[in-house]
Amino acid sequence: MPAYRLKQAMRSYYQELVDDWADITTWSEKLRADCANSAWSPLTVKTVLQTQDPPSVKFAFQTADGLTIETVVMRHADGRNTVCVSSQVGCAMGCAFCATGTMGIKRNLTAEEIVDQVVQAARWLKIQKMSIKSQVYQVAGQRPEGHDGPDRPEGRITNIVFMGMGEPFNNPDEVFESIRILTSPDMFGLGARHISISTCGIVTGIQRLAEEAPQVNLAISLHAPTQEMRQQIMPVAKAYPLDRLMRAVRKYLELTHRKVMFEYVLLEGVNDSQDDAEDLADLFNEYRHLAHVNLINYHQTGVFKPTSEANAKKFQNVLRRRGISVTRRISFGEEIRAACGQLATRETE
Ligand code: SF4
Repeated sequence: MPAYRLKQAMRSYYQELVDDWADITTWSEKLRADCANSAWSPLTVKTVLQTQDPPSVKFAFQTADGLTIETVVMRHADGRNTVCVSSQVGCAMGCAFCATGTMGIKRNLTAEEIVDQVVQAARWLKIQKMSIKSQVYQVAGQRPEGHDGPDRPEGRITNIVFMGMGEPFNNPDEVFESIRILTSPDMFGLGARHISISTCGIVTGIQRLAEEAPQVNLAISLHAPTQEMRQQIMPVAKAYPLDRLMRAVRKYLELTHRKVMFEYVLLEGVNDSQDDAEDLADLFNEYRHLAHVNLINYHQTGVFKPTSEANAKKFQNVLRRRGISVTRRISFGEEIRAACGQLATRETE
């Protein structure tokens, strides 16, 4: 096939978000028919679960070799849609507060499987938008006109976070390739600053991110302010101790001058005291202006208890008093087990 045919197919897949060869309108009928028996996407949708308040959608996808992965779309009140993608089937890191960590690792996802989660989520949003629009037209007594008019953010993916199943920097080649595809103007075409990678502390990946994709945002799953505490809940701290991790973060900041997000799940009686908040603030010292702490509610996975609201507020206040930018992350999708730390493909297998 001539190269321009591939470009046409890519445009249909990444930008027009069609879901079959038959919908590539720039191709002849014969060409479409010739491809009809080939797979259009590497993933197939198994289930789609939705919540309303706040709105979120969890997709369970099946891979060609019969494994299940999960992807979540968080629909923000300001119209942004953030898709949280998986980078592995399961995870080898065994963080004590995370359901994915209990699954073990089955395999890495390919770049195409990572990208297809985003494309399929985008396609789903586009279809929702078209059906809502069609209902509005019917109510208003006007003719439905399909997907037209200004491209409002409600119908498209505006942000991508690598915070689903798996540790992205344990699968770095495929993850960096997926970022190339997702940011390429000829393909999905999202700005790199709208993409974030979260790592539990794989130092080599942090270095590579600074060199290869400095516009992509870095988030560190920190969850403990001391090496001793971190080792108890995150086995990765044995291979990459806290002081080595913070040295790598400092180096990243020097190279990129980008803000780094630190994720911190509040676990009752484990890491939620005011002394823990003081220790956490000490970690950032001279570069506190480039650190942002995101406090996360613990979503029951059986092992720990979530901290109380009063404790969470006190913890946040200590950080504020120490001059650290801090937010509490709102929880999306807890009742469909789509929230942070809950992805484990239980109800879909
Ligand atoms: S928190 Fe992330 S790195 Fe840790 S077990 Fe869960 S998926 Fe793996």
